[in-house]
Amino acid sequence: MTNSDSDLEIAALLLKDGQLVGMPTETVYGLAADATNAEAVERIFEAKGRPSDNPMIIHISDIDMLKEYTEDIPNVVYKLAEKFWPGPLTMVLPKRGNVPSIVTAGLDTVAVRMPANECARKIIELVGKPLAAPSANISGYPSPTTAQHVIDDMNGKISAVVDDGVCNVGLESTVISFEGYDSIRILRPGYITPEQLKTVVDDVVIDKNAISDEAVVTGEVRSPGMKYKHYSPKAKVVLVREGLEMFKKYVAEYANDADTCCLIFDYDAADFPYKYMTYGNTPEEQAQQIFAKLREADKKGIKNLFVRAPRKEGVGLAVYNRLIRASGYEVVECEQS
Ligand code: AMP
Ligand code: MG
Repeated sequence: MTNSDSDLEIAALLLKDGQLVGMPTETVYGLAADATNAEAVERIFEAKGRPSDNPMIIHISDIDMLKEYTEDIPNVVYKLAEKFWPGPLTMVLPKRGNVPSIVTAGLDTVAVRMPANECARKIIELVGKPLAAPSANISGYPSPTTAQHVIDDMNGKISAVVDDGVCNVGLESTVISFEGYDSIRILRPGYITPEQLKTVVDDVVIDKNAISDEAVVTGEVRSPGMKYKHYSPKAKVVLVREGLEMFKKYVAEYANDADTCCLIFDYDAADFPYKYMTYGNTPEEQAQQIFAKLREADKKGIKNLFVRAPRKEGVGLAVYNRLIRASGYEVVECEQS
């Protein structure tokens, strides 16, 4: 459906009725359900094939909703909300009894976000309840950043998708939790960077799992089995942490195969000798394009995708985080001599 007011009203009615609706947000398209309706939330898990131990983010349209569904809110939350909401920041707080435990996978905390996308906020307002909305993809597959991506994954499993064009941000929110009075931990890097958070809170810790590079190897590819895949296309992704010349040298051995492709930066493309797609130059461009490009690789029947790794700075940290998971930790770094 379109993003017209009358269609948003229909979307809200479907949600009130316990149905699932694909909802645009500035990060990625969400698979929305009334967060207070346990049966509706159960349907999200089914439609996505999502493991039931993975808690969901609830989306709110105003601060009153935050107070209604969470408690023991530290003051710093209001400071962060003032600066970053509506926007791609998710805060984990103690939940109240009105949040069904299926939403939080049994945890006594709930993750909350106020999306910047106006359609999303309007829908939430019309429903009058927070909406549980994980990304609207089959679990494990790259997140959807267009309404068509949602249809590709969810056709027949949901009642409607609100089409509001391409997501501005393109990857998921930054998820933070609180430790003590004035200290936060980044559980998942996103569009709101550690540097931005430090303008509000002195003590910002990045969780090891969010940036772990443990699987980085020197000169060879290794794939530790313990880490689970996420954001992954069908194509096998290998992340190559190299400058352009070393990247070309590394892929030379593989890149002439018909079903192999490289994913490089726009400015790498001049005279690039192998089959390629590009995903922008700046971290912001890369964030916006990465999931669409991973999906495009599958549409083109690519079996092996060699990706030039983004720099792990600013928003690049989040892009890197998604790619390292998409690759199942297959990261290549060549020996520098
Ligand atoms: P998504 O599937 O993109 O909506 O992801 C939701 C993210 O928020 C996942 O990384 C969850 O692990 C995280 N999350 C949701 N609720 C909680 C919670 N109560 N505590 C910690 N992390 C959470
Ligand atoms: Mg997701």
